[in-house]
Amino acid sequence: MQISSRSFLTALLVLLSLFSFSQTKVAIIGGGIAGVSGAHFILEADPNAQIILFEKDEKLGGNAQTVSVKNKAGELVNVDIGPQYFIEGPWDDYIAFLTKTLGPNPYQSETLNASLLIQREKEQKPVLVSPLGMKLRGEKLGKLLKLKRFNKEAYKMYKKPEQWKGISVETWVKQLQFDESYKKEIIYPFMAASLGTTISEIKTTSAVDVVKLFAFRKPKATNKFKVMTDGMGTLIQRVGEKMDPNRIAITCSSPVTKVVRSKEKWLVTYSNNGKEQTELVDFVVFATHADQAAKILKSETSLSESLNCLKKCTYFEARIALHTDSTFVNNEKPAFLNIITNTSNELVSSTMNLSMISPRLNGIYKSWASPEAIERLKKDGKLLHVTSFWHSLVTTDFVLQLEILHKQIAEVPSLYLSGGWSEGLETQNSAVISGKHAAEKYRAFLANRK
Ligand SMILES: Cc1cc2nc3c(=O)[nH]c(=O)nc-3n(C[C@H](O)[C@H](O)[C@H](O)COP(=O)(O)OP(=O)(O)OC[C@H]3O[C@@H](n4cnc5c(N)ncnc54)[C@H](O)[C@@H]3O)c2cc1C
Repeated sequence: MQISSRSFLTALLVLLSLFSFSQTKVAIIGGGIAGVSGAHFILEADPNAQIILFEKDEKLGGNAQTVSVKNKAGELVNVDIGPQYFIEGPWDDYIAFLTKTLGPNPYQSETLNASLLIQREKEQKPVLVSPLGMKLRGEKLGKLLKLKRFNKEAYKMYKKPEQWKGISVETWVKQLQFDESYKKEIIYPFMAASLGTTISEIKTTSAVDVVKLFAFRKPKATNKFKVMTDGMGTLIQRVGEKMDPNRIAITCSSPVTKVVRSKEKWLVTYSNNGKEQTELVDFVVFATHADQAAKILKSETSLSESLNCLKKCTYFEARIALHTDSTFVNNEKPAFLNIITNTSNELVSSTMNLSMISPRLNGIYKSWASPEAIERLKKDGKLLHVTSFWHSLVTTDFVLQLEILHKQIAEVPSLYLSGGWSEGLETQNSAVISGKHAAEKYRAFLANRK
């Protein structure tokens, strides 16, 4: 049989490509925004990668959970029970990721008026009310001017983070020029409510990380917080649906229980329909919380120092209820965020009046509430939905552990620990940044292999 030189060349090229073609298997553990964006960026870095994404819950989203509840008119509406707000600028990586994966104008949004009220339990007279639509509402101007000055101080720190490394909220607030009663009545409750912690927890957090929650707005800026009409959780699920099933296998309801080294690879053990299964992979990305990663990696003795760091990354419980009880807010002086304190200035509840976002959310309140308050809502038939979240408490020690952890993991070429927490204060945006960092590590891994 005669073979033409042209077909011989083609056959040779196919053979060569077969030899040089090595498909890398990647496991991503966790299907929140960090895991989903990590999968996207890794596939962008390596079109040959074969990814398996393991999610323990029934659907993708992680903390971003969109639920359907009834508004005052009895219509079903989407509400994010966990993360909900974002803003152009500080959330640009997140917005760019959604645009890249879902196409132009990937979401509809509504604007959130960031008005604030702080009030004592069982009193109707607020300690502080911020203006609503530029209108002052009889409150003491002096307190508002101080709040503006406080925001200026926070903005200064936000702009020069390196100068404030390792400084706790308590140390930072101590040196601010405000009287003690203002700090106790207003500054601490406001900061604690911003993250959803108690007053004593917020004092231990890293100041420069916590101000990222609110101080990105120049004190005079008019830029507005936004929420997604369809919900942040819904958007992550849409991204998952758009991913190519030939390149990424998304396995929900599949908690990973163990990851250990197996020669040059990693053996991932997970459970699926109650059955234990394993998968041998070349590269592993953790996109779970730090404490979950510590549990999954606990048998891998070569990582014991990193496991210690992971265990020291602390979390707090954020219990959030959607409900219809208007006594959680001041109805005469409407404000979006209603912080209620007791006589010792500890937080009793912190409630977002969602009606102030859009008429579609009329009569719906979102509260960080005590277990007793939730029981009461249940008994009164006013509870629409309740969920408990675990949120990282970014203390100064957390930041230190993170630094050590990143250095240690840099020595392990085929492993990356991602997740919003791995960037410091966690947001949907920091989680996307962590997904990009996972892909950078993966690129370095591929380059070293060649
Ligand atoms: C109450 C609350 C309000 C918030 N508000 C905002 C906000 O307004 N705006 C904002 O940008 N951010 C907000 N955040 C922060 C935001 O939710 C997080 O930063 C973001 O969800 C982090 O994403 P992630 O993918 O790193 O983690 P997660 O969303 O927590 O995802 C981790 C995933 O890992 C999965 N997992 C865990 N263990 C396993 C296992 N063994 N096997 C397989 N899968 C596993 C989990 O089920 C989960 O899906 C808020 C957070 C909370 C708790």
